Amino acid sequence: MHTKTLKELSALLHTKQISATELAQLFLDRIAQSDLNAFLHVDPALTLKEAAAADQRLASGDTTALTGIPIAHKDIFVTRDWRSTAGSKMLENYVSPFDATVVEQFRQAGMVHLGKLNCDEFAMGSSNENSYFGAVKNPWDKTAIPGGSSGGSAAAIAARLTPASTATDTGGSIRQPAALCGVTGIKPTYGSVSRFGMIAFASSLDQGGPIAKTAEDCGLLLNAMTGFDPRDSTSIERAKEDFTRDLNQPLQGLKIGLPREYFGAGLAADVEQAVRAALKEYEKLGATLVDISLPKTELSIPTYYVIAPAEASSNLSRFDGVRYGYRAQDYSDLSDMYRKTRAEGFGEEVKRRILVGAYVLSHGYYDAYYLQAQKIRRLIAQDFQQAFTQCDVIMGPVCPTVAWDLGDKADDPIANYLADIFTLSTSLAGLPGMSIPCGFGQGEKNSKRPVGLQIIGNYFAEAKLLNVAHQYQQATDWHLRQPAE
Ligand code: GLN
Repeated sequence: MHTKTLKELSALLHTKQISATELAQLFLDRIAQSDLNAFLHVDPALTLKEAAAADQRLASGDTTALTGIPIAHKDIFVTRDWRSTAGSKMLENYVSPFDATVVEQFRQAGMVHLGKLNCDEFAMGSSNENSYFGAVKNPWDKTAIPGGSSGGSAAAIAARLTPASTATDTGGSIRQPAALCGVTGIKPTYGSVSRFGMIAFASSLDQGGPIAKTAEDCGLLLNAMTGFDPRDSTSIERAKEDFTRDLNQPLQGLKIGLPREYFGAGLAADVEQAVRAALKEYEKLGATLVDISLPKTELSIPTYYVIAPAEASSNLSRFDGVRYGYRAQDYSDLSDMYRKTRAEGFGEEVKRRILVGAYVLSHGYYDAYYLQAQKIRRLIAQDFQQAFTQCDVIMGPVCPTVAWDLGDKADDPIANYLADIFTLSTSLAGLPGMSIPCGFGQGEKNSKRPVGLQIIGNYFAEAKLLNVAHQYQQATDWHLRQPAE
């Protein structure tokens, strides 16, 4: 049962072959037995109450395709019923008075919440090792990182602890953990998914999206989680669309752009091999490969690591010991309280980014760093528009290597930043991008570690991306592979 897709589960629920309560219990049992540290908060009684309500809806016929199906949220989406920590000591005991729009949307669809998922502190990281609550283990090899920042979301899908999860992607945090855990994830066009109630990291980049086993499942989840939200100032007003509408379109004539910058030095041989094999498969499906260039790729790292910290330093100023969460115990006056609260409440990486962000925004440096980064950001977006005159979608690796060992880069922020090279530009441009499993590489101890294929589309091309991914998943079975239990 735990291996079934959302579509299969929906059919079983609607034909009463299983109840929402039975399904929820099954996943709660799997979560209780797991040692991955993927879940931060579970509350079986609450989950079963939601499941009972879903069973009532199923009995009355007032359902959606997702009614009764379990889901878990990255702990960056605020929830009334569970704590919302963003992986930080600062919010260790924080309970939100409201649900994020995304959470509300899934409630309305009748999904059953299994709990909240571990992530890097305030979504800053690529390995999940920045979580105050400890790293998540990669289900394929428990000595490896699951990727980040949505490590819990990806690991939980890979280990079949939940059939659906939410995640957020600021510079790759949906695509990279999906790739390193061998599951499917999509970051939609910026502005498609409401940021209301999504704890802010870098507001001009943050975007929510689903992680699941298949492209079709991601489409079903996107159908529920997108849409205009007046409570998010950058939410896009667009007609609702069915993201699964084009899944079965043939790929004959599809032009796939291969950026030469994504296949150069630094790309591990095992990753390149798996990606090239996937491209061969696409040729068999009728696609043609076109060489393209995204010349500013290299600049995406310094650009992102100026803009994201700048926005983070501003967003995180709200954590002052007065309004939210943690407050230091002993302090002499107000300034001392602020200082001690932030010194004790934030982890190393978060502090590093606040410092960098405050620096690049300060008088005298704003023009030299922040403004310059904004200009390059525009050029990066233009590179993509130029590329899309030559191809329909862009493909390449998600991450230059397979998952590395836990601890390997934990004390080396630059090494972590460099691993983001293939995901950052998509985020800076606000484009949709996804990751699908396409094979395995070798970890240092010769374990099998998943490789992800990245598919990038132009603005609002989500249905196309899902079509391109689905056709591959019909022809191959990488997405069905599971780690040993
Ligand atoms: N790894 C990137 C960072 O550390 C991206 C994180 C994200 O997308 N949330 O900022």
